[in-house]
Amino acid sequence: MEEQLNEYQGKATMDKITSLAKRRGFVFQSSEIYGGQNGAWDYGPLGIELKNRIAGAWWKEMTQLHDDIVGLDAAILMHPRTWEASGHVENFTDPLVDCKKCKARFRADQIPEENLAAKKCPECEGELTDTRKFNLMFKTHIGPAEDTASVIYLRPETAQGIYVNYKNIIQSNRMKIPFGIAQIGKAFRNEIVTKNFIFRTCEFEQMEMQYFVKPGTDEEWFVEWKKRRWAYYDKLGVKMDHLRWHQHGPGELAHYAKDAYDIEYLFPMGWRELEGVHNRTDYDLSRHTQYSGKDMQYIDQDNNNERYIPYIIETSAGLTRNVLMILCDAYDEEQVTDKGSAASEGSADDIRTVLRFHPSLAPVTVAVLPLMKKDGLAEMAQDIRTELKEDFATDYDQAGAIGRRYRRQDEAGTPFCVTVDYQSKDDNTVTLRFRDSMEQIRVPKAELASRLRQEIKTYKRAAK
Ligand code: ATP
Repeated sequence: MEEQLNEYQGKATMDKITSLAKRRGFVFQSSEIYGGQNGAWDYGPLGIELKNRIAGAWWKEMTQLHDDIVGLDAAILMHPRTWEASGHVENFTDPLVDCKKCKARFRADQIPEENLAAKKCPECEGELTDTRKFNLMFKTHIGPAEDTASVIYLRPETAQGIYVNYKNIIQSNRMKIPFGIAQIGKAFRNEIVTKNFIFRTCEFEQMEMQYFVKPGTDEEWFVEWKKRRWAYYDKLGVKMDHLRWHQHGPGELAHYAKDAYDIEYLFPMGWRELEGVHNRTDYDLSRHTQYSGKDMQYIDQDNNNERYIPYIIETSAGLTRNVLMILCDAYDEEQVTDKGSAASEGSADDIRTVLRFHPSLAPVTVAVLPLMKKDGLAEMAQDIRTELKEDFATDYDQAGAIGRRYRRQDEAGTPFCVTVDYQSKDDNTVTLRFRDSMEQIRVPKAELASRLRQEIKTYKRAAK
């Protein structure tokens, strides 16, 4: 653990990220006025934009850029037999221990082995209970009767909605193996320990893609999907030295998996899983065949109607965990010295906080700021904003000193600011200010939209 933290090179800490997220309206604690609800968070105006953009980037990557992948949005509530077939009713458990003295609750696999062996609480040294298995699925009832016949679960993963629809999609969309189905949606897990802000929550969102392949080709496809998912994060502009692969050892491998790798990100609290790439074999479709009585075999019409149960390569990423990753990855603090363009932006030796989002992910792409409210500058700035609105996510701010307004946009991660000043009235040019370098250039108003488009397309994060 110590070693992991020393490895961390970023400026972010979980406290700083949590407080910035609240201050700027990215993420709020759920039901805060009642003291908050553990394991649940609300996404504010900037947070929902960021989350939607991350989801959009993934969706584009997985569907638009792949002719052989289609989308799906399955229901959260599924027939309870689904979860018997998937193995979740029996196996989706965490080992749990409680402290009899301080009542703290721990995952047995997350406390030091010596504490577990001595049954000693790592916090107060009180006596721990025996380890018991705790199922992570949220259980509720459907309909008015609260009996065993009405038990229903909130889905703990989105994948099963894909498996039960795989035959529908083959038929309706004439898909041929190999092909994939992508889905983004909510999942629920009754996590024993929720900490580190939105990293591990009871209600979260997943972005999953299940790729159906012929048995025997699965290992090749597994390697291919590992490659593609790695390249995706590079394209997103993530610090690649903060990513690494972790292969599941024999003790970690899920009962259905032939091989599994996690993409881990170096969060401020250390290396943690961001996404899993799994070879799930024919386990899921075989089990659904067995439990539903429906034939889940694929019939290969191009190959003498050969029949087989496809193998599945899964890429499973947390959307809300990706939001946290992008926030940590973008977070920076910078000493602003009294030179260059920074001079007009604040006092010497000031620290500015900046979120260096890729412009395609930033909640606001361009903020339009009149230097003064008076003399028609505000009206001109409003007109520019109206023109840009159709194509870009915009903001408008006329309150306070210009340097302070730039800082507010830096904290929100807005990559471009457009400032309207007196010269704008004379020659129809505006100042375009870049978030990362704080450089300012003069651009004719008429060229603004095309210049912004070009800047977004060619954006490269400066090496630090
Ligand atoms: P862990 O071991 O951390 O509990 P897992 O291996 O059970 O996670 P998967 O079932 O493989 O996770 O889920 C796929 C992805 O979904 C994870 O990589 C993660 O990004 C996300 N995810 C899983 N559980 C949660 C959670 N409780 N809160 C937020 N995201 C989660």
